[in-house]
Amino acid sequence: MDLRFYNSMTRRVEPFETLRPGKVGMYTCGPTVYNFAHIGNFRAYLFEDFLRRTLEFAGYAVRQVMNLTDVDDKTIRGSQAAGKPLKAYTKPYIEAFFEDLRTLNVEPAAVYPAATDHIPEMQRLIQALFDKGIAYKSEDGSVYFSVDKFPAYGRLAHLDRTALRSGVRIAADEYDKEGVGDFALWKGWDEQDGDVAWDAPWGRGRPGWHLECSAMSMKYLGPSFDLHTGGIDNLFPHHENEIAQAEAVTGKPFVRTWMHCAHLRVNGEKMSKSLGNFFTLRDLQAKGWAGREIRYVLLGAQYRQPLNFTFEALAAARAALTRVDDCVDALTARAAQTGVADDGARVASALPAFEAALADDLNAPEAFAALFAFVRAANAALNAGLTPAGAAAALDELRRMDRVLGFVFFGRAPKVEIPPDIQALADARATARAAKDWAASDRLRDELAAKGWQVRDGKDGQTLKPLAK
Ligand code: AMP
Ligand code: ZN
Repeated sequence: MDLRFYNSMTRRVEPFETLRPGKVGMYTCGPTVYNFAHIGNFRAYLFEDFLRRTLEFAGYAVRQVMNLTDVDDKTIRGSQAAGKPLKAYTKPYIEAFFEDLRTLNVEPAAVYPAATDHIPEMQRLIQALFDKGIAYKSEDGSVYFSVDKFPAYGRLAHLDRTALRSGVRIAADEYDKEGVGDFALWKGWDEQDGDVAWDAPWGRGRPGWHLECSAMSMKYLGPSFDLHTGGIDNLFPHHENEIAQAEAVTGKPFVRTWMHCAHLRVNGEKMSKSLGNFFTLRDLQAKGWAGREIRYVLLGAQYRQPLNFTFEALAAARAALTRVDDCVDALTARAAQTGVADDGARVASALPAFEAALADDLNAPEAFAALFAFVRAANAALNAGLTPAGAAAALDELRRMDRVLGFVFFGRAPKVEIPPDIQALADARATARAAKDWAASDRLRDELAAKGWQVRDGKDGQTLKPLAK
């Protein structure tokens, strides 16, 4: 599989190449753990999961690192408002984050380094920047990175360097429109930080957000690695600053391929905490939506296209997954049949189309289309008498696709227990149908529906399902 990805650095779709054959070092900016992550954040984490699974599907061994930002303005403010020490405040959000990743069937990263566990690494990076004359201390006790001293600054964001405002200091972590200037590496202690501070040769304080990721990515992946990802809002200034901090010290190219996903939107606006237009995963679960349905919706658009969140999309996901489930159930039932000779017939493979879609800059809509083409072909084959061996082979193919998709076999509704009175009605209906007594069969169908059960007729007889409430 020859993968081609859009690289934000070159602004082109290009062949994916790694520093070492067959191996990928991948860093993904993780959550700021001051609250529950919202599904906009999870669009980013699911895009990264899809990317990672695609790389593994293509045969790469992937080492993924995802940081936890557990010290910044927001976590400090939150812990003070709650009257708790910082670690005690962030701990339940970290646990909730991992639980949410499991709900969404996201494969775990190899390491989840927390910023507060890596202060010495960050301080060493700052010291190295001082030694090179690139870091300087300001009157308020903070330490800044002088963008003038790093000629490559602006390469990722394709900035016009004449717009750099030399000596203008940006204390905020997030982008602000005036924000192209020197950025904070270390924030000098002030009263608002309470007891959240570490001693350093240049004065007591805490690390800047951008610094966290440079220090932790290089610690776990080395000075140069293959792939760095995040949401598009991370591109500037966060990732630009990560490059500056790393390359100014090591003199080596930091990252080969940069990939960013577009935003999840609500009514045309970015879903975000600050706009208040967000749903957490838990909000949607409380409304009865399952992790696999949310996974399906968030993965369904190509990652560089903005995606508008709607409940209609969730309902469509439910219907689509029901079709997949029905096909899997029918294939499973057929595969379990005994005493049928294998006639060699197989459902035509959709893997070539599936792989081509993934290789083409993770074209999820095309990959989903390949899955549904396969489901249709499998249903047709079942109706035409697919043998148990053919059904087993089709299930194998679905399992292969699901290595990347992660929603076909994951989180399926448990097999329902059918109460004896319902089973008795269904048996009576089967008898009526065998006797071609259609009036009785229809009456029994209605009776089952009145009791909340849907009966469906298929090649392998009738199946019962509880009606959606
Ligand atoms: P944060 O916790 O704000 O640092 O965000 C964590 C990740 O979620 C980053 O990769 C962001 O770029 C990403 N992100 C935040 N909001 C959205 C959104 N509405 N759609 C997609 N990704 C987002
Ligand atoms: Zn980061």
